[in-house]
Amino acid sequence: MLHLSRADLLIDDAFIAGEWISLSNRFAVTNPSTGEVLADVADCTREHARHAIDVAAAAQKEWAARTGKERADILRRWFDLLIAHADDLAAILTAEMGKPLPEAKGEVLYGANFIEWFAEEAKRVYGETIPGHQRDKRIMVIRQPVGVVGAITPWNFPNAMIARKAAPALAAGCAMVVKPAAETPLSALALAKLGQEAGLPSGILSVLPATDSAGIGLEFSENPSVRKISFTGSTNVGRILMRQGADQIKKLSLELGGNAPFIVFDDADLDAAVEGAILSKFRNAGQTCVCTNRIYVQDTIYEAFIDRLAAAVGALSVGDGFAEGTAIGPLISDTAMDKVCHHIADAVSKGAKAITGGNPHALGGTFFQPTVLRDVTTDMMVAREETFGPLAPVFRFSTEEEVLAAANDTEFGLASYFYSRDLSRIWRMMEGLEYGMVGVNTGLISTEVAPFGGIKQSGLGREGSRHGIEDYVELKYCCLSV
Ligand code: ADP
Repeated sequence: MLHLSRADLLIDDAFIAGEWISLSNRFAVTNPSTGEVLADVADCTREHARHAIDVAAAAQKEWAARTGKERADILRRWFDLLIAHADDLAAILTAEMGKPLPEAKGEVLYGANFIEWFAEEAKRVYGETIPGHQRDKRIMVIRQPVGVVGAITPWNFPNAMIARKAAPALAAGCAMVVKPAAETPLSALALAKLGQEAGLPSGILSVLPATDSAGIGLEFSENPSVRKISFTGSTNVGRILMRQGADQIKKLSLELGGNAPFIVFDDADLDAAVEGAILSKFRNAGQTCVCTNRIYVQDTIYEAFIDRLAAAVGALSVGDGFAEGTAIGPLISDTAMDKVCHHIADAVSKGAKAITGGNPHALGGTFFQPTVLRDVTTDMMVAREETFGPLAPVFRFSTEEEVLAAANDTEFGLASYFYSRDLSRIWRMMEGLEYGMVGVNTGLISTEVAPFGGIKQSGLGREGSRHGIEDYVELKYCCLSV
């Protein structure tokens, strides 16, 4: 049983157009650690999405007409409520998703920070005046909200991926209809409940738990009232949404898969590099889109680095996310387990060796041993595919040119990391890595104050920073003849 100081934050209704709706069709949400059913949640259909969109379209006009400060005040109250109830939100998150409780609390605070940040930005959606091109012309540019946004979010950050989208959208004056991942709708519903308490008007934020994700995705794509889709998830589903949105030239923000390289040069601070590798690889059991997927270590320090990494990884404790000291929770599903097993088997069959871990954990279920593979080469699946699990494959390289080419040899371009103390090399690498984000001597880069996002097939748009609001506004150029 989940113990919350506010039991009413555990919700199994859908939140549509400002109403909490109970439906006869329901689906079970389970704790991946124990298999316990946490809730039977209302299962929304495409028709519910249509209704939520209709109401959002009507409500959005009045919301957009408010001043930035009026919207900011409500968002700020929402932030305060999220902070006040962070422990409950973290418990709900750990229960439905499995990540260790301190990580869940970190996610809740991280998500809340976006709401605080964009509450402040709501007041700064500035326009521009441009000197006219003719003597009688005056030119103004105003920024206006895009309108109703359909959001589809994944299970790995059930709270923050919604906060990160809703904050800039609502700040700009948009309305949002959210379809959370079916594995993790409870965090989304709790967020919406606190948004309602903060004073968000009816219909400005709806949350539709649903198993028919394809149907809801189609409604978002085909309903002309939806002006934009904001999606975080796999590159494959991103492609589907892009294709589906083509008919209506739907605007898209896509935050898709990654294949992050983590490069350690021989001039690096090795202890710092090991610590960074642990944070960036094993956070959320390796289930984040910015998680390190490939570790490249320079020849001369390969053995030293791998010994230290294996020792640190071997010390990570695997267990229930609520247990004191747990560093690695369960994976989200059997499919996730299969993928990790498959990547390890493929690498080992081609010559890699597991120096720690390598197998499902004795706890059973979807617990997996944190694993380090050595002697990994580019012909192995781990070189190309995102593992999304607690597996650190360590490649060997000799020159900067070689490792830069290897790091960029992927269709993905989300996060990348490297460790070096040579200033010229740092500049060369920062400029040469074909990624939307580069961590230099750090394995943790996510923050609301910086633009998060990818290039190549890792996505479109940015979340966070002053740039984040641009995804939710349109420029309108007005030419005045005087
Ligand atoms: P993951 O592998 O992390 O589950 P997905 O891309 O499959 O990544 O899921 C991310 C989100 O996309 C989830 O909310 C899921 O329900 C939703 N989703 C999956 N398939 C589709 C689809 N065809 N159209 C719209 N949304 C989808």
